[in-house]
Amino acid sequence: MPSMLKSIRVRIALLFLLLLLAVMFVTGFFLLNTLENYHISLEKEKLEQTGLLAAEFMAPFLREEVDPVLLSSVAESFSRQFNARVIVVDPRQMVLGDSVRIGGMLGTGLDRREVEMALEGSIGQNVQFSELSDQWVLQVAVPIQADDNDRILGATFLSASLTPVFETIAAVQRFLIASTLVSMVLAAGLAIVISHHLTVPIKELTDAARKMAEGKLEQKIEIKSRDEIGQLARQFNIMASKVNEMNQRLTRFVADVSHELRTPLASMLIGIQSLQNYEMEPQQQKEFIDDINIQTQRMIYLVEDLLELTRHQEVADIKDVVPLELVLEEVLETTEPRVQRKGLTLFREVEEELPCLEISGEGLKRVLFNLLDNAIKFTSTGGWLKVKTQTTSHQVSISVEDTGCGIPQDALPYIFERFYRVDQARAREMGGSGLGLSICKEIVELYGGSITVASQENKGSVFTITFPVSPSIQPGYQAEGGSEVVI
Ligand code: ADP
Repeated sequence: MPSMLKSIRVRIALLFLLLLLAVMFVTGFFLLNTLENYHISLEKEKLEQTGLLAAEFMAPFLREEVDPVLLSSVAESFSRQFNARVIVVDPRQMVLGDSVRIGGMLGTGLDRREVEMALEGSIGQNVQFSELSDQWVLQVAVPIQADDNDRILGATFLSASLTPVFETIAAVQRFLIASTLVSMVLAAGLAIVISHHLTVPIKELTDAARKMAEGKLEQKIEIKSRDEIGQLARQFNIMASKVNEMNQRLTRFVADVSHELRTPLASMLIGIQSLQNYEMEPQQQKEFIDDINIQTQRMIYLVEDLLELTRHQEVADIKDVVPLELVLEEVLETTEPRVQRKGLTLFREVEEELPCLEISGEGLKRVLFNLLDNAIKFTSTGGWLKVKTQTTSHQVSISVEDTGCGIPQDALPYIFERFYRVDQARAREMGGSGLGLSICKEIVELYGGSITVASQENKGSVFTITFPVSPSIQPGYQAEGGSEVVI
């Protein structure tokens, strides 16, 4: 495609012009044709009437001795009155009178098909180009009949110029061409205005998209219309702000991760340098190595949590039908020894019948382990924990309650944010990365659930996760067709 045709403006303008040309061509063709047919048939009728009149008038002259001079002057007066050449012939097609005196056909034969038809009793007609007069002519021949019987005495032949008809048609044609040209100029102007209106916002969008591709993410387009282009601009703005937000989140995330890694790395470095540079008692050396060990462990936890963050995005597609009862049982059994070791009591208020969930089993375990882990971590010896379920027809909630240190009210809104820890130093000491709850929230929301927290400082906290329950995946569910769902 030529490069010019790639522009929407040029294409719209060309389309307008082509459309206009096509419409004008078809309309013009139809109009001129109709006009020509109408005028010619009108002329034919007029000439036929004149021919009949002339034939009736000529009949008495042919009954007697024919006087060519008289006939010619009668023909001439008809000719002047009706603007046509008038010729009178006898049954042998010999010209008896001609309205054209000088150079006329008097005394010669008029050998024409129309005349033959007239002598046979019908009216002959013809439209032809006359080389002699260099114009289109209409010719009509009418029989001259005797009054008393059908005897044919001769024929009148009339020939009229069609030039006035064609002049009228040519005038209409000129008008059509002129109006087509004016319309084309107007259409081209209109196409330019319309395409300008269309392409300017598209160009703005293209520029903004290019700037985004160059890394200038803060792009915003002014929305000037409510049409499709306006909608496109609105969507672009939404997309640009999302990309921008994601970029900021990514930058913040990388900064947070670096910050989290720097603390244990710095303390490992101090430990290693001290071991390298100073002579120490074996006991002291062991303390440094233990510290390095703890920091390494902390980094492993952090990296594992980071991996978990990326992994559960992939897990999103995994959806199993998971019996909540079994998962909960497994998590509680695994946690129980830690609860006992810390001198805590675990109460279970778990319903007898729990629904199945459409979820990733591993994801669900991860959430429950995390909540229980926090509850154990932040509750002092002697306290208690409670795991409780509550099922309704369309949802199930599992809550983990503790009698631990609780969370201050002003910290509650941030508790699910990545790397957020109420007491940075203390949480870090306990091996927390500050990622646990944000992972929980992401997993829960991935499967259409929600997570909430209620807490009072120094009294305890309750974390509750809620999932929708779909009746169709429950064991024993009778599908509409009557078949039972087997899991
Ligand atoms: P961490 O790995 O540090 O536990 P989380 O995302 O699981 O990270 O928790 C974030 C912060 O929320 C914790 O550092 C702690 O301050 C607070 N928190 C979480 N659970 C509890 C709880 N059961 N009791 C008190 N504070 C909690």
